[in-house]
Amino acid sequence: MIHFAHVTKRYPARGDALRDLSFSLAPGEMVFLTGHSGAGKSTVLKLIGLLERPTRGQIRVNGRDLGRLSVRRIPYHRREVGMIFQDHRLLGDRTVYDNVALPLVVAGLGPNEVGRRVRAALDQVGLLRYERARPVALSSGEQQRVGIARAIVARPPLVLADEPTGNLDPDLSWEIMRLFVRFNQVGVTLLIATHDHALIQALPYRILTLSEGRLVNDCRGSGR
Ligand code: ADP
Ligand code: ADP
Repeated sequence: MIHFAHVTKRYPARGDALRDLSFSLAPGEMVFLTGHSGAGKSTVLKLIGLLERPTRGQIRVNGRDLGRLSVRRIPYHRREVGMIFQDHRLLGDRTVYDNVALPLVVAGLGPNEVGRRVRAALDQVGLLRYERARPVALSSGEQQRVGIARAIVARPPLVLADEPTGNLDPDLSWEIMRLFVRFNQVGVTLLIATHDHALIQALPYRILTLSEGRLVNDCRGSGR
């Protein structure tokens, strides 16, 4: 599903954020990406989502070489990659329903199809009763779940999450992880950047560790 081959990313006037990074994720895997702040986790996710371009190296996602993707194909790529952010990036002046509907409206789906899919996504994250609410009326855990519903509403085969539990207490963090496990059980590939070691060690999933832009470990959580 994801192949990085010798990827280097250099930001202007900075050192290399990623250095000669190679790794692969198979379809259907759920993988954590960890490492200290500044290790390059967000940069990996941004490259996969085409929010940034590599300086060197090749990235393939879902069979496509991102370096050869025509401008016309970029919106299709973005639709196949659901992105979840720590600060959830919801629009405060829109309802929960409108926030979740956004990717479908942008994709040009009709109102009936949008309604059906938005309610299915809100149901999956347990927020159907809040569709008319504004995000500010919700708790931080609920806001994060709205962000997750928006990321999965177009049913992408791949979901990326950048510190999705960074602002949440342990109980709410577990709730978010249980959602991810459920998505994974229906075949979604997930790559989750986090520095919450306790959480990821307690789950039996693959853990990639970055340090200064290099892959320094590829192991598995103990699940205890
Ligand atoms: P992490 O997500 O692990 O905290 P990042 O990928 O955000 O790491 O950052 C990796 C390195 O790249 C850091 O040194 C960071 O300051 C730098 N960096 C990230 N984004 C930019 C940017 N847009 N411009 C310049 N430097 C950046
Ligand atoms: P994240 O929490 O996603 O790692 P950060 O808080 O590190 O993001 O950075 C916020 C934004 O600033 C991101 O878009 C990132 O690309 C950018 N950024 C990070 N480090 C730098 C930097 N040293 N110079 C310029 N932009 C940066």
